Amino acid sequence: MSAVEVTDVAVTLDGTPILHGVDLAVTGGEWVTVIGPNGAGKSTLLRAIGGMVGFRGRIRLFGRDIRRLRRRERARLVATVPQAPVVPPGMAVLDYVLLGRTPYIPPLGRESAADLAAATDVLDRLDLAGFAERQLATLSGGERQRVFLARALAQGATLLMLDEPTAALDIGHQQEVLELVDGLRRDHGLTVLATMHDLSIAGEYADRMVLLAGGRVAADGPCQEVLTEELLSTHYRARVRVVDGAHGPLVVPVRPSASSAH
Ligand code: ADP
Ligand code: MG
Repeated sequence: MSAVEVTDVAVTLDGTPILHGVDLAVTGGEWVTVIGPNGAGKSTLLRAIGGMVGFRGRIRLFGRDIRRLRRRERARLVATVPQAPVVPPGMAVLDYVLLGRTPYIPPLGRESAADLAAATDVLDRLDLAGFAERQLATLSGGERQRVFLARALAQGATLLMLDEPTAALDIGHQQEVLELVDGLRRDHGLTVLATMHDLSIAGEYADRMVLLAGGRVAADGPCQEVLTEELLSTHYRARVRVVDGAHGPLVVPVRPSASSAH
């Protein structure tokens, strides 16, 4: 089943064209990672799919036009961890994660025992149980990042969009978070659409990659076809070597003309 279908999508922000005729398809259960240099439009694309920014063209979520979805319906289909989430001041971790249950709580109602159970279950799975009463502002960057993920998971949506989910994490927590997401994908049929800067780690988890550059899709295919020295040097202006790894290509930066650096 098609989870995401983006057809000829264009986004203009404050008069500046950001995305130009973007096409993207994600099948249910698939993990697709969007890569591309800073400013390519990755976050904007995720925001358009999440209904957070206006666009021209067509976006369907699980076969339904997102323009026809009401907010609560959309929130049950797609949960997003933004690149820089807004943190309400003075809020405790558990209360923040409970915000993820909003689409299930009736207007003017309170969260039910089931909502509380869903939130605590996610906190347990993310190793955050001991943080439930802590103020979000007192957590480290990595702990906070896991809380953002917890809120999205508590939402119980079938499509999870992660905008640079590992940027604030050390290498151990990066693996922990990505393994957890991958486990949920396997066990609960979650579909994942992510953006990531670490190309080697991105290649280890994604089924497919989309390279976005200047608001256009420059490449779309299996990781081996997108993570090539040629494409990366063209679109990132980076000198890299790509080597085979056990779970996908590994991208190693190479210092340009080291011999003439003296
Ligand atoms: P990425 O996530 O790939 O780094 P973004 O989607 O965040 O890129 O941004 C794409 C481009 O859109 C950037 O050049 C950014 O400066 C620009 N941009 C983002 N928001 C606005 C805005 N409100 N008005 C004008 N340009 C914007
Ligand atoms: Mg971004």
